[in-house]
Amino acid sequence: MTENNLPRWDLSNVYPGLDSPELIDANKEMISMVEEMDDYILETKIDPTIPPPTDPKLAASIISGFIEKANTLNRFVITINAYISSFITTDSYDNEASKALSELQQVVIRIQQQQDVLFTGWLGKMNDILPEIIESDPSLKEHSFFLEETVLQSKYLMSSEEEELASELSLSGATAWAKLHGTITSQLKWKVEQEDGTTPELPLTQILNFRDHENELMRKRGYEAEGEAWKSVENQLAACMNGVKGQVLVLDKRRGRKDPLERSLDQARIDKETLEAMMSAMKDSFPMFRRYFKAKAQKLGKEKLPWWDIFAPMGKLERSFSYPEAQEYVLENFEKFSPELSAYAKRAFDNNWIDVAPRDGKRAGAFCMGVPGVNESRILLNFDGNLNWVFTLAHELGHGFHNDCQTDRTMLQRDNPMTLAETASIMCETIVTNAAINEAKSPQEELAILETKLNGESQVVVDIYSRFLFETEVFKRRDKAELSAQELNEIMLEAQKETYGDGMDLDNLQQYMWTWKPHYYSAGRSFYNYPYTFGLLFGSGLYAIYKERGDAFIPQYKDLLSSTGMGTAADLAARFDIDLRSPGFWKGSLDDIEQYVERYEQL
Ligand SMILES: [Zn+2]
Repeated sequence: MTENNLPRWDLSNVYPGLDSPELIDANKEMISMVEEMDDYILETKIDPTIPPPTDPKLAASIISGFIEKANTLNRFVITINAYISSFITTDSYDNEASKALSELQQVVIRIQQQQDVLFTGWLGKMNDILPEIIESDPSLKEHSFFLEETVLQSKYLMSSEEEELASELSLSGATAWAKLHGTITSQLKWKVEQEDGTTPELPLTQILNFRDHENELMRKRGYEAEGEAWKSVENQLAACMNGVKGQVLVLDKRRGRKDPLERSLDQARIDKETLEAMMSAMKDSFPMFRRYFKAKAQKLGKEKLPWWDIFAPMGKLERSFSYPEAQEYVLENFEKFSPELSAYAKRAFDNNWIDVAPRDGKRAGAFCMGVPGVNESRILLNFDGNLNWVFTLAHELGHGFHNDCQTDRTMLQRDNPMTLAETASIMCETIVTNAAINEAKSPQEELAILETKLNGESQVVVDIYSRFLFETEVFKRRDKAELSAQELNEIMLEAQKETYGDGMDLDNLQQYMWTWKPHYYSAGRSFYNYPYTFGLLFGSGLYAIYKERGDAFIPQYKDLLSSTGMGTAADLAARFDIDLRSPGFWKGSLDDIEQYVERYEQL
């Protein structure tokens, strides 16, 4: 099968086309729903500046009307957004779709003002009678987590006028800085000498890809070019960092936050104790990961690993997969876990929910998006026959299965925090990766698969810890004054030394790791790093419980997936007797990796 006839995703059951009367009608209906919501807000006085009702029954009826409207409206918006995105992500030249998306974004801003500012601020004023309100209406009981969380978060709102000014000004503040960061990093080019002696000017995104080049010389040239290129724009990027972090500090203070980490923990739906338990277990696992780095250095004929070798490929994959073989492999291994999971994957394959092959204009990487209007998901891949893409296929199908488990939930019940959003995907990826390790055809293939696994895990544990240290220190210093590029470099090097430690060649680290990771430049998501580690360790911890309990695990697991938008992480984990606040649970997941490090050392 050639790339050209691999399946593309089919969304014709959602809308027939971008200019179809059906989509035009849907857009009109969405706008009229937003207007209806405006009227409803006005009529029922959902306004933080007006005293709220004192009668719980009256309040309950207003709230339940709001929730019903918000659920319908959000379902509409997410579905239209997914539909338009299906064009943009597979064809960046599609101007018609880009325009449609930008129009939709205007509507989304209005909806955010309605839901996140007016309703949140108003509901917060009824903190005292909230239990009575919830008790008086069954539809509110089903949304109790959403309501309680909204009230808790309402403490951190400024006045409606201030919030409005902040969101308008943000377009010229943090949002503008983030945009500039995106422009600089995506347009930066640098010369790199190639294996054939030519020296073309390449975009940084392409130079970053040299990090897993087979030839060490090219990895090193990529690393050096990166260093020179980032140096040429470090002052501009430092200004972006100062702008974003400065705004976050000002607004978080004005909103009564202790610090930016506090808000991030609320978004992740975990408490500080949980984070600290996880971080301490991560720290304890550094010696194990350093063994992996040292073993890798040794295999490359060195004593210590320089930065340019971190992503060096190892071993050799014997097999490559045609797409039908990849489908077969995933189905076979999902089937052993749960026939329901493999039936789900088969449904996705049979109905063309997956856009498989890379092509010009298509976005890189992979993702899964829910299309709630038809209770389905769609998956984007850039499948090239490599085993890694088989793992990615399994990972994304896990996200789809997670969405499927939430079909019976309302939109407000499906708002998963980042920490729990990766549960099913990690589980599915683990199922297929473990199968591949067990079935490796040769030591070289086993080494290649183990390398992929351990490299990914060391990034999520060791590198993310260094990002956390970096961001903590940047906020601390930015609170007092702006930081120079040199200071940012120093903080990054310090963070890498503390985490990678003697596993690495400390004279050859990468001080510019802060320049291109977009996570640092998002004002809405500070500390967008540790949730990845949470996802990995929670997912693999659940996998260990599955190994113990077998089939009995499945119904409870499905129930967990259906509820990930309806509770704190600690409450949901307690259903499996997991105590997230004790380092023991996290240590268990990390200890599980050790057998793979041992095997890696032997190979
Ligand atoms: Zn994922």
